Formats: sequence, structure tokens, C-alpha cells
Amino acid sequence: ITIPQLLRDAVSRFGPRDAVVFSEQNIRLSYYDLDRAVDELASGLLALGLEKGDRVGVWSPNRFEWVLTQFATARVGLVLVNINPAYRLGELEYALNKVACKTIIAAKSFKTSDYAGMLRNLAPELENCEPGRLRSATLPHLRNVIIMDDQPGPGAYSFEELRKLGGPAQQLRIPEIDRTLSPDDAINIQFTSGTTGMPKGATLSHYNIVNNARFVTDRIRLSETDRLAIPVPLYHCFGMVMGVLGAIGKGATMVFPGEGFDAAQTLDALAKERCTAVYGVPTMFVAMLEDLGDTPRDLSSLRTGIMAGAPCPVEVMQRVNCEMNMKEVTICYGMTETSPVSFQSFVDDPTEKRCETVGRVHPHLEIKIVDPDGRIVPVGTRGELCTRGYSVMKGYWEDPEKTAESIVDGWMHTGDLAVFDEEGFCSIVGRVKDMIIRGGENIYPREIEEYLMRHPKVSDVQVFGIPHDTLGEEVCAWAIAKPGVELGEEELRESLKGQIAHFKIPRHVRIVDELPMTITGKPQKYVMREKMVAELV
Ligand code: ATP
Ligand code: MG
Repeated sequence: ITIPQLLRDAVSRFGPRDAVVFSEQNIRLSYYDLDRAVDELASGLLALGLEKGDRVGVWSPNRFEWVLTQFATARVGLVLVNINPAYRLGELEYALNKVACKTIIAAKSFKTSDYAGMLRNLAPELENCEPGRLRSATLPHLRNVIIMDDQPGPGAYSFEELRKLGGPAQQLRIPEIDRTLSPDDAINIQFTSGTTGMPKGATLSHYNIVNNARFVTDRIRLSETDRLAIPVPLYHCFGMVMGVLGAIGKGATMVFPGEGFDAAQTLDALAKERCTAVYGVPTMFVAMLEDLGDTPRDLSSLRTGIMAGAPCPVEVMQRVNCEMNMKEVTICYGMTETSPVSFQSFVDDPTEKRCETVGRVHPHLEIKIVDPDGRIVPVGTRGELCTRGYSVMKGYWEDPEKTAESIVDGWMHTGDLAVFDEEGFCSIVGRVKDMIIRGGENIYPREIEEYLMRHPKVSDVQVFGIPHDTLGEEVCAWAIAKPGVELGEEELRESLKGQIAHFKIPRHVRIVDELPMTITGKPQKYVMREKMVAELV
């Protein structure tokens, strides 16, 4: 099944029901409306002269135009390229040229980022060209710039103009192109989060992501009666695959609380739209729990949701269960390169299992855990997790070397450390690269983070290693205190004494206002590590 087929099925089954709600833009569309808008935009894209397989970048926070672009590009076989909303000039130039984008569809601005301005900076030729005829020295492949604003400026079309650009001739071509689409076609280049360095462009097929979206939403029993809130970025597979494709496949209604994540805005939308499910990374749930403490909301409609993307402290999971009324919340583990999810809990798994593990493997996937020499380890032993099956990406875009390093005999080497129990529940114990080896002892930051999260004054914490002359590595922690409380660095170290082995107690502790995060809300340990090293020299 292809993405256009998925949408067509949904339209025929759920036509008049609400498909999407964008609270901030005040937009509400039924499946019928969505389908019509997608057709219109798809023919506009064809009118630009784009051909099947051409790359179209989308650079925007969570806006209605994003979802429309996602389906319109797929409908005519164009490859959608997710461009990180946090990018600046250099990264944008790199991404657009790396995948040879012919068209970019961008928001005018988001928070402090002036997207239109950055594009004009990179391609000053825009000032003196007709829309659609860009020839730029810095962005040699780019022909069209589309800005989501009534005033796109010289050389660019507005999004509304693009929607009106198509005519009957293009409309006729849509079913023709549809017959040439194959589930195995590359349809999406998704950049990874950039948690460990520069984001990598994973090339994914219809088959990869449509199937994964289905298995993810099967596990939370999503149906047409559900209203799913998506505060996670569309830019990432969490939003666009697990969220959008997942909801469409089940006929659920998607609710987008805002362009970027805001705890209060999300909670307001949950209550107002009577949402039954919500997705988030653990830090988002932490922020929502804090906000809920100050301003209670009626969350009685909530039933389920997914917490994924980073390790979830048991403490947070338990609070989400009671304070947000999400008895059936599940945990997922996955990565962009595997479309993304490979492990997930079932809604009726025992709470301890849902707290302490990432659940059991998804259908139709093979899994193994290996030691550094590639040998499979016994149950109960830690090692690197590898995944094989339908969900493994086609490869990193035009990067055969990196692809060959990560995918060996079809096995995707995840770079994550994991361990299975006898019943097949899997625990992620950290990234291979984040494991700290101090004086010959293997230390898993996750374990120390769990202890620190139980401290009554701690709101969030990250533990990481930095190089040390004689020990090899030394343990560090960065913590955020709960609002309004005083927390001392020494006090936090003291609290661990007697609880964990002395060599695991962080040597350096910092109380900070915020943790360096990716746009997807993941803590970037490499940034903390660099800052700590710079501070200590
Ligand atoms: P990059 O590859 O660019 O450094 P990234 O790996 O964070 O960034 P993603 O593909 O968004 O990019 O995230 C996948 C990673 O997120 C996994 O490899 C794993 O380390 C982490 N992860 C995802 N889900 C979980 C989970 N439930 N528990 C622990 N870690 C998780
Ligand atoms: Mg990764």
C-alpha cells in the first residue's frame, strides 16, 4: 500500500469525520476536505514542472501546510524532504544541496527564525527572478521557493498561489501518475534528530512508513473514535509517521495544539478538544506535569498515548499514569532509520513492565542483541540492538559508506544498548557511545538518572561522561531544579551517597536552567560534554 492509497481508503471510510484540527491556525478539515485540498496542491506541484522522484523540501513548524504538503507530494510521487525547523544558513544550504531539492516550501518565520530571510540570503537571485525560474549560484538545484504567507516577496509564490496554480491538465495526470507508484519507491527523506551530531538523511519508502504507522497505532488501539493530540514536531517521524499516517490509517482526528511545543497550550488543547490520546517525548510530559500542578485541567477524556524518543524515567511514567489520567500510555522505542518504531508496550501490559521496559517487538521484525564482536549474547546480557525487516530504511541518501556501516546483511545496527528479559520485554540502557567507562567500570548514565529523578527537588537531569586522564572517563550530571526551590550541587551529590556505588556518583554536578535539546526534545549529551570539558580546562 502507498501513502495515496492510505488516504483514499480513509476518505472513503471516514469522509465527513474530522481529519485534522490546527488549534493555533484555527483550521478544521474533514477527510473529504483534506482530500480535495491535497488534490489541489498536488496539481499545483505538477504545474511547477516537478516530476516523480524530484525532491521537495518542507521547512516549517507544525502548520496545516505541512500536512497538506506531506500528502500532496506523495500523491504525485515526489520525495518529501523534512528540513529541521532549527536549521540556520549553513545547515540549510547543506541539506538542500545534499538531496538536490528543486522546490522548498517554507514558513515565513517561526519564533526568532526568519526562514524567508534566510532563503533570500542564500539565494539573492530571488530578488530579480520570476517565480519558478530561480537560478542560484549557492543553491544550484533549487527552482521554486514557496512561502506560507500572503506576501512571499519577489521570486517566490505564496502557498495559496501554489494551490491555485494547477489546472485540469494537471488534474488529469494525477491518476496516471498514481498507477506508476510502487510501495517500494523512496517517498521521504527524513533527517535524524541530531542528538549525537549532524542529522543524517534516512531515505524511506511508502512501504516502510505506512506499515510502521499501522503497527504503532494497532498497539494503542487507535480507532475512528479517537482524537489524537500531536505536539511533537511534524518534521520528525514521531509526528509525521506515528502521528499523521497513524491517525489517517485508523480514521482518528488529529489535533495539533500549536506550531511549536508549549506545555500550557498542549494541555489547553487536550481539554478543549476532548483528546483521547497524546504523543510526546519524556521532557514534554515533564513540562506538562509541572504546568498541570499550577493550573489543573479536565483531562478525563485522555486514555492513551505514546512516550518515546528518549529514555523515560519510571517516576515520570507513574505520574503520567495518575496525574494525566493516561492509564493506557505506552512506551515506544525506535529510530528514524527504522521508520521508526520497533518496540512498544501493549496498553494492558503490567504497569511495571510499561515503566521499566520499551515493551515487546513489533510484528514482522527480527531482533538480535550482539556483543562488540557481533556475537549474539544470552538473554539478560547487555549488547547492541540490531533490527532487520520491512522497516529498515533504503539507506542514507547518497551516502553508501555510512549506509554500509549501519546496515550489515540487512541488519540495522542501532547504536543503542539493550537487554531482553525471559518474557521478551526489552530495556534500552543507553547509547553505545554514551556508556561511561570509568577506571574499567561500565557505568550506564540511565541508572544514575533514575536515582536523581527521585530527588524531590529535581525536575529533570542528564548524566554523561567526560574524558579523564587516569580514569579514562569521569561522571558528570546536569540537573534542573523544580520551580521555586533551591538546589545545591553538593546537596545533590550527597543525596546519592549510600544509594549507589561511590564510583557512579557524578564528580561534577551543575544546576542549570535548561538542558541543550534537539528540536525533537532530546537532550544533546554531546553539547553538555563539550561545555563541561571547556569549563574544566
Ligand atoms: P542522531 O542519530 O542524529 O544523533 P537520534 O538518534 O536521536 O539522533 P532519532 O532517530 O530521532 O535520532 O532517535 C532515535 C534514537 O532515540 C534511538 O537510537 C535511541 O537512542 C533513542 N530512543 C528512542 N526511543 C527511545 C526509548 N523509548 N528509550 C530510550 N531511548 C530511545
Ligand atoms: Mg540516531
